[in-house]
Formats: sequence, structure tokens, C-alpha cells
Amino acid sequence: MSLSEKVVIVTGASSGIGAAIAQVLAREGARLALVGRNVANLEATRRTLQQQVKGVRAEIVAADVTKDAALIVQQTVAQFGRIDVLVNNAGILGKGGLIDLDIEEFDSVLNTNLRGVVLLTKAVLPHLLETKGAVVNVSSCAGLRPFAGALSYGVSKAALDQFTRIVALEMAPQGVRVNSVNPGFVVTNIHERIGIVDEEYKAMLQRAIASHPLGRVGDVFEVAEAVAFLASSKASFTTGALFPIDGGKHNLTPR
Ligand code: NDP
Repeated sequence: MSLSEKVVIVTGASSGIGAAIAQVLAREGARLALVGRNVANLEATRRTLQQQVKGVRAEIVAADVTKDAALIVQQTVAQFGRIDVLVNNAGILGKGGLIDLDIEEFDSVLNTNLRGVVLLTKAVLPHLLETKGAVVNVSSCAGLRPFAGALSYGVSKAALDQFTRIVALEMAPQGVRVNSVNPGFVVTNIHERIGIVDEEYKAMLQRAIASHPLGRVGDVFEVAEAVAFLASSKASFTTGALFPIDGGKHNLTPR
């Protein structure tokens, strides 16, 4: 098992890609701090892990990444005594482009997708320096290329990618690796959370299928396997990398 006994914090483990990441990491032997605000959903993730992996250690940390960085670190260390890997997965979408921009929504997206990551990574860093650990950020294809009409989200993920590259350079001399995965469209609750449902969602899904060169959207486990790779010593010579998991979409020219 590539992550045997490693202690991993997964933010946004209560849903979608984060729940899948928790499953794959548990199968690879990791001990997990499952972070999110929705405790019932975190418990559902933990039950799934317990059904799948005999003797798994997974603790629930009910926390908001925008304001609870110290609590997340303190509860993880209290449970496990160390931190080897931080997976910054929690994230939200925003709606619209500049003309119809809701500045409060912009602040909220940046606060969660960027500022929350910065705060938590900074709080975890002393522990990663001790363990020579790793960070994996869940960014997006929207960080690698522009999409008209996805302003807040694209800006937050592009900034997150630069954060990944800069911190990777800063931490390389101390042996801490920092990488990101950049998924294309993956079916989760993320669109429903901002009210994209029913016919609007179906139309969006059809456009997404057509716009990925591989001719389909992604699956949560395709992202999770890449996260597990970057978190493990299998990726011991990889840092500052942005890993597209997007059916080839990042290479398309923006229209
Ligand atoms: P979901 O909406 O299914 O899950 C989002 C997760 O983030 C939830 O577990 C939620 O937990 C958590 N979260 C959101 N805000 C906070 C917060 N303030 N504090 C703590 N947890 C928070 O979305 P996905 O699984 O799709 O998204 C996961 C990541 O993948 C995001 O960073 C997203 O940008 C990225 N991504 C997703 C793509 C897709 O097509 N689905 C494509 C590219 C990237 P809770 O509700 O418990 O607070």
C-alpha cells in the first residue's frame, strides 16, 4: 500500500471528489481526517470507508476551511499525532462573467477556493516539514485555460495553481512536495449547490461531454487515483506540477 499509516487531511470529504479521494487513500493504507461542514455527509463517507477497508482509521473534523484552519490541525494532531499529507479539495463554483458579477459571490469563491487553501496549508506546514510530507491541491481545468462566463471560479483556480507552483519552489529544499490535479467536468453536487439543476444541468452536461476531446466527462475516481499518486512516494520526484485530469480539454484553444 502506497500510503501505509500516512496521516492525510482531506477537505471536502463529505461529497463528490473528496469522498472518492478518501476511499482511494483508505485503500492505500492512509489514516484520514475527514473535513467538511456537513457532519451527516462526513459520517456517510466514514461508513463507506469502514465497509470497504477493514480496520480503517478515519476521524471526522467538522470545520469550515475559510475560518477553522487551526482547529483542523489541532484535531488531526490530537487524533493521530502527526500530519503527512494535506489534500485541499474543498471548493465551490461561482456563476457568470464580469457584466453580471455578484461581488459578494466573487469574495466567497475566492475565500473558499484560494484564501482557505492558503490558511490551511500555512497552518499544516510545520507538521509537513517534520514528516517531509506533501500537499495536493484540487484545482480545475479552469485554472489552466480561460472559460468565458466562469470568472470567479477561473480566477480562483488560476491563482491556486500559481500558489501550488510558488509554494512547491519554496518548500522543495525542505523536501515537502506540492502539486495539483486539474479536473475537467466531473458529475458531483457542485453544480446543484449553485442552483444549476434539471434542464439547465442536462444542457450543461451535454456541452461538457462534447467539449472534452475524449468525448465524455470524468469520474470522481479518475481524479482520486491521481491524487493518491501525487500524495504518495510514487511521485517522489514530482513537485510544482499541475496534472490535468480532463480528457484533454486543457489543450483546446479558448473560443
Ligand atoms: P461537491 O460540491 O460535491 O463537494 C464540495 C466539497 O467541498 C463538499 O464536501 C463541501 O463540504 C466542501 N466545502 C465547500 N465549502 C467548504 C467550506 N467552506 N469548508 C469546508 N468544506 C467545504 O464538489 P466536487 O466534489 O465536484 O468538488 C471538489 C473539488 O473539485 C472542488 O475544489 C472543485 O472546484 C473541484 N473540481 C470539480 C469539478 C467538477 O466538475 N465537479 C471540476 C474541476 C474541479 P460541506 O458541504 O460538508 O461543507
